[in-house]
Amino acid sequence: MKAIRVSDFGGPEVLRVQEVPDPKPERGQVLVRVKAVGVNPVDTYIRSGAYARKPSLPYTPGTDAAGVVEALGGDVKRFKVGDRVYTNGTITGACAELALCDPLRVHPLPPKISFVQGAALGVPYATAYRSLFQRTHAQPGETVLVHGASGGVGIASVQLARAAGLTVIGSAGTDKGRALVLEQGAHHVVDHRAPDYVDRIMAITEGRGVDLIMEMLANVNLAKDLTMLSPGGRVVVIGNRGTIEINPRDAMAREAAILGMILWGATEAELTSIHAALVAGLENGTLRPIIGHELPLAEAPRAHQRVLEPGAYGKIVLIP
Ligand code: NAP
Repeated sequence: MKAIRVSDFGGPEVLRVQEVPDPKPERGQVLVRVKAVGVNPVDTYIRSGAYARKPSLPYTPGTDAAGVVEALGGDVKRFKVGDRVYTNGTITGACAELALCDPLRVHPLPPKISFVQGAALGVPYATAYRSLFQRTHAQPGETVLVHGASGGVGIASVQLARAAGLTVIGSAGTDKGRALVLEQGAHHVVDHRAPDYVDRIMAITEGRGVDLIMEMLANVNLAKDLTMLSPGGRVVVIGNRGTIEINPRDAMAREAAILGMILWGATEAELTSIHAALVAGLENGTLRPIIGHELPLAEAPRAHQRVLEPGAYGKIVLIP
């Protein structure tokens, strides 16, 4: 089969298509024929060699795929050959024509959800769900700022928060991104590059501030976030690419909380709960992944560049 292989950590150019032997499922494993692969920012951090979790070389990148069950090892009862599925982790890597998986990382893909949409679920939707419901315990009636709403995690957060009865404010850096955020359920949208966006959010909330902030770029925004929270407000740090100076008094005065969130921190029980909720949301139509770019597998280097550029519009997926 064809797969993307990384033999040395480095820039996007280290992602190369190679012919490798087809994986065979052993007892307790599922083999998925991959139809689409989701590209996440974390894939680029891992590829660069700068991430805390480093795979041994050579490796095939990617965790999020959607496709069809091709074969089953012994003792796998939850799936049958031909089932449509999505993954939130693989044993052999998602950027390939076939991916070997632990059945715990494989979930049913409802019929109305396409394979490219299925590839947008694993990291982005699970991150959004965990941040909203397992870390900040969002409640209906609260107001949430999805700070960076136009990308994979942001669109998922907007859809989940809207369906749960929150008032949703989304931010994006382009007109196209802001239009998408509104279309996907945000009640209000702001431009996170505009100098007055904090004033706009305070005006939208009639001076009270927001109850929750889902923060995609904490090293840029955390100090301002703490000034936009309502009393007892919470910021959940989802994305961060550097350091920032904050005034702790802003948190103290509001009895605010800064929470971290790392998807790898979820327990098996929490992941089971997350994916059960996501499948239900896909079935009832509240969750509708948005795909901005589809590229052939061989263009993985371009996808890794694109996912870090401004102007996000939903997900970037690769097609084997
Ligand atoms: P993505 O699809 O590339 O989207 C990036 C988002 O960040 C876009 O909405 C972008 O908006 C926005 N952004 C850019 N500049 C911003 C600014 N100054 N203020 C606020 N938002 C800004 O990435 P993603 O998959 O949604 O992931 C978002 C971040 O979360 C990444 O840093 C990723 O590594 C991290 N993440 C962490 C976890 C975890 O377990 N903690 C899990 C998943 C993702 P425009 O392009 O419209 O400007």
